[in-house]
Amino acid sequence: MLALITHKRYLQIFIPLISITAIFFIVGLTISSLPIDVEKTNVPLTTVAKANEEVLFAATSSVDAQVKYTDKTTNNINTNSSNKKIVYLTFDDGPSAATADILTILKEYKAKATFFMLKNNIERYPTLAIQVVQSQNAAGCHGVTHRVNSFYKNKDTAVNEMLSCRRSLAVITAEHSNIIRTPFGSYPYMNEEIRDALSDAGFIYWDWNVDSSDWTATNAADIVKTVKQQINTLDKKGITPVILLHDEDMTAQALPEILQFLKSLDYKFAAIRESDPPLQFNVVEKSE
Ligand SMILES: [Zn+2]
Repeated sequence: MLALITHKRYLQIFIPLISITAIFFIVGLTISSLPIDVEKTNVPLTTVAKANEEVLFAATSSVDAQVKYTDKTTNNINTNSSNKKIVYLTFDDGPSAATADILTILKEYKAKATFFMLKNNIERYPTLAIQVVQSQNAAGCHGVTHRVNSFYKNKDTAVNEMLSCRRSLAVITAEHSNIIRTPFGSYPYMNEEIRDALSDAGFIYWDWNVDSSDWTATNAADIVKTVKQQINTLDKKGITPVILLHDEDMTAQALPEILQFLKSLDYKFAAIRESDPPLQFNVVEKSE
């Protein structure tokens, strides 16, 4: 009798335990069967190259029959219809050790920006990724590998990187974002097939029309100078600037002066929304 009672208690405890274990196992299987995480076959984030975009452009721009892009000029967006001058600040490659400073400076200037983040950095700095979202800045994905040959290999590699990044962003920050910046911008790497596949997966990609060249600058003053020159040109034409910046220390040092300058020209800082018309490098229909 005693043995029977003990056995019943044993079952009362272990049946729920086994059920819970089974549920976790099934959930685990479901998650692992989702689209492949491309980064598993690629380098860890610590070795992600701080790429020289110009060199990569030169090296890869020679032949690509599928490329429909003519150049790096853009479909100039102009949102002056509301009589408001808008500027979009975009920070790539984060989150990083500089993100907290950048967020603080943005807050001081009551400015909003857009952060195009890498999957591995979102996972490495989850608190900062959450802060980006909670501070009403926009969050978008920048992929996983940050390598031209990996990301733009074919439509599946590009889409899988962005899906994987979007999933991490959603899990960690609860933000489901479809805005993306592809590594090194769309021109000249993105062919028609990749462009259509990203679009079919719901992604909206953004390029830029102001390149701060912060990734080659040796001091903050040079970054400020480069941005000011390009902004002045766009300002005269009434074109809405989309500024390419990187989530790093020297850019954070340059940021107050850039923000001050943009304020002096009466710009309002906007975070990118999915409903905004994306700024993209020029695309033309193939004639052949
Ligand atoms: Zn990047």
